[in-house]
Amino acid sequence: MSKPDDHGPATRIIHNRRHKDAFGSPYSPVYNTTTYRFENTAALLDVIEGRTEGNLYTRWGTNPTIKELELGLAGLEQAEAALAFGSGMAAISATMLAHGRKGIVCVGDLYGGTQELLKSHCMALGIPVIFLFREEQSQLAAHLAEPGKLVYFETPANPNMAILDIRDLAKTAHEHEALVAVDNTFASPINQKPLDLGADLVLHSATKYLSGHSDITAGALMTSASLAKPVAAWRKNLGQLIAPETAALLSRSLRTLPVRIRQHNENAMAVARAMEQHPKVSKVHYPGLPSFEGHELARQQMTGFGGMLSIEVEGGQQAAEKVADSLKIFLLATSLGGVESLVSQPSATSHHGLSREERVKRGIGDGMLRLSVGLEDAEDLIADLNQALS
Ligand code: PLP
Repeated sequence: MSKPDDHGPATRIIHNRRHKDAFGSPYSPVYNTTTYRFENTAALLDVIEGRTEGNLYTRWGTNPTIKELELGLAGLEQAEAALAFGSGMAAISATMLAHGRKGIVCVGDLYGGTQELLKSHCMALGIPVIFLFREEQSQLAAHLAEPGKLVYFETPANPNMAILDIRDLAKTAHEHEALVAVDNTFASPINQKPLDLGADLVLHSATKYLSGHSDITAGALMTSASLAKPVAAWRKNLGQLIAPETAALLSRSLRTLPVRIRQHNENAMAVARAMEQHPKVSKVHYPGLPSFEGHELARQQMTGFGGMLSIEVEGGQQAAEKVADSLKIFLLATSLGGVESLVSQPSATSHHGLSREERVKRGIGDGMLRLSVGLEDAEDLIADLNQALS
């Protein structure tokens, strides 16, 4: 896959096409096929033995609809290559199996599913896994003495939006011949480009902003062609490919990603500012607020601050539960990145399994509510929060 041109992200995602459609459609049809017919055995062997590029079997990743999606995904992160998966966890697990076998060093907070994968499965396979708190990141070099490890993190992180310095962590990792993988789900490629900041691999739960409508489950890896190759082999043999119909839906969603993200950014900023003024909210965690601890760093490495924020409600867990249960527009649901606004209480959902002490250590207060700010009118969202808080 060649490096996409230098147009802006909105132009790239609308116009990057691999094929010209025979009937003049600006978009490719959905190739709902698992297999492909060959003229003769010699032609089939040419593809199997790698002499010519061609489609053979969809699970191998050689489906035109999926290839077209991958062209768009690569363009978004300005990567040389992209691989599409059936879920974010499929992308993360294949990447870890391909590039993390010498050891994975995680920094800061991670999505619960990723933690479970690392603790229950990677460790069981004998992969050495280290978890460093954000405050312990200066210890990273000490854990990279052996070359070939994978440094893994999320920024902004769930649920307190903590910001990690991608450039700085990548520098330390590369000095020790380690690779860097960043889960860019919360920021989206419109707000943050980890590859430009030195990361080697970028991962997305495309279930979130990339698809943007809470109606498909998908994942993506954007990286160099050489780093993608071993991950594609794991994807093929674990059977983790995205389905062609889902790929077509995701391609359609990507065309509106830049405009959706601009509105998510704007709405979240309006909600964050309003919540910062509210007497019943003791703290707002939003990278766009000057009062937020990671604001300066976010300003340096992000071009927008995203649609995710957390608030801490006075009165602890019960008060927060009452607010969550009283919201009328925000839906009480997990996940994020859709057009509809969602609320969840980390202490009751994603971080329920942690002890209170551990939650406090991770900056997750009892009264914390995580908001995925959608694309409704910002004033309606603020009014909804105000009525619930009162
Ligand atoms: N990464 C992050 C930051 C997430 O929030 C999630 C899911 O919530 C995942 C990865 C996993 O994605 P999926 O549910 O598509 O497998």
